[in-house]
Amino acid sequence: TIYLDHQATTPMDPAVMEVMQTACTQYFANPASPHAAGVRAFREVERARSAVARFVGGARSEIYFTSGATEANNIAIKGMADRCPGGHIVTAATEHKSVLDTCAYLREKGWSVTVLPVDAQGQVTADQVAGHLRDDTVLVSVMLANNEIGTIQPIAEIGRVTRQAGVALHCDATQGVGSLAVDVTELGVDLLTFSGHKIYGPKGVGALYISNRLTDTAPLAPLMHGGGQERGLRAGTHNTAAIIGLGTAVTLVEEVREQEARRLEKLRHAFLTELTAASGTPFRLNSGTGPDFLPHTLNLSLEGVDAQDLLPRLAGLAISTGSACNSSAQEPSHVLRAIGLPPEQIKGSIRLSFGRFTQESDAIDAARYLAGAALPEGARG
Ligand code: PLP
Repeated sequence: TIYLDHQATTPMDPAVMEVMQTACTQYFANPASPHAAGVRAFREVERARSAVARFVGGARSEIYFTSGATEANNIAIKGMADRCPGGHIVTAATEHKSVLDTCAYLREKGWSVTVLPVDAQGQVTADQVAGHLRDDTVLVSVMLANNEIGTIQPIAEIGRVTRQAGVALHCDATQGVGSLAVDVTELGVDLLTFSGHKIYGPKGVGALYISNRLTDTAPLAPLMHGGGQERGLRAGTHNTAAIIGLGTAVTLVEEVREQEARRLEKLRHAFLTELTAASGTPFRLNSGTGPDFLPHTLNLSLEGVDAQDLLPRLAGLAISTGSACNSSAQEPSHVLRAIGLPPEQIKGSIRLSFGRFTQESDAIDAARYLAGAALPEGARG
């Protein structure tokens, strides 16, 4: 199989697997235990916390480990909402479901939610955000980069607006941190979330950054109550091996991020060149290139093709239609609808995302394979 679905999840880097294997044998003790074995495990968890803090430009005391980005987004949004019952939240139409559905839940419970429309590229502007802030706005939540079309949002500009207004800004950076250097101060964000399994780390672990400014006076309300781990914000015994794996994953990202971004952009170009040459089926790009888009994402619509029919013919190619994160939902992609695509173009849309272990030959083979499978029946070789 040629794996081109890195936005759904990434394979683990062998270096991450190695440290996790060691962690499972050497650091199995509960990091909360006061004995020597527990203390050794605790130190490794804290080492990982330092790595994550460096990765986002925060302090160690501002990092909380969670089970992933879904949980981190829930804690961030519900935790902030809880500070202002019935208050107002601003988000954007192309956010991940873990943000949109959390906001929808809060709306049902009496909060007021503004979902900003995006332009044809999938961007919101800082002016849009500024225009919707109210006296009772408790949180703005905008993602760093989109998981279906790769659009990068102008977070630093939005951050200047929210800072000036004294409103907290949350950024779901799950899809961005693998490709873009992140600094919470430069971005002006107060809360930031991401996940291990999108950056060649393990599944079931994520991180939440919360600025100490926000928690100086009072902590955020937790979703789960129990043992008081993660300074009471996320109870439950630490997933030590996964946390250690996450620490290694972020360190590796930092080492290779820039060169990988350039390489992946070239792979995407090679794929598109080959697809254009080999394809008898016209296609339209739904994602873009250049500084406003992630370098490894490609979303395109094949004319006259239903992507759901196409997938079974592409058994050797792992790609997705719309978002695999909510593939159980049969409704058309909310992201493609939000950028104004007509239903037939949404129907023919596929998403490919290249990754750390993708070779140029994989990209070219995938393009030829796709071109062949997309031809009408009878015209296929
Ligand atoms: N946010 C974005 C932008 C995503 O792409 C995903 C992917 O699933 C998530 C959040 C959820 O992450 P997790 O699988 O760690 O819960």
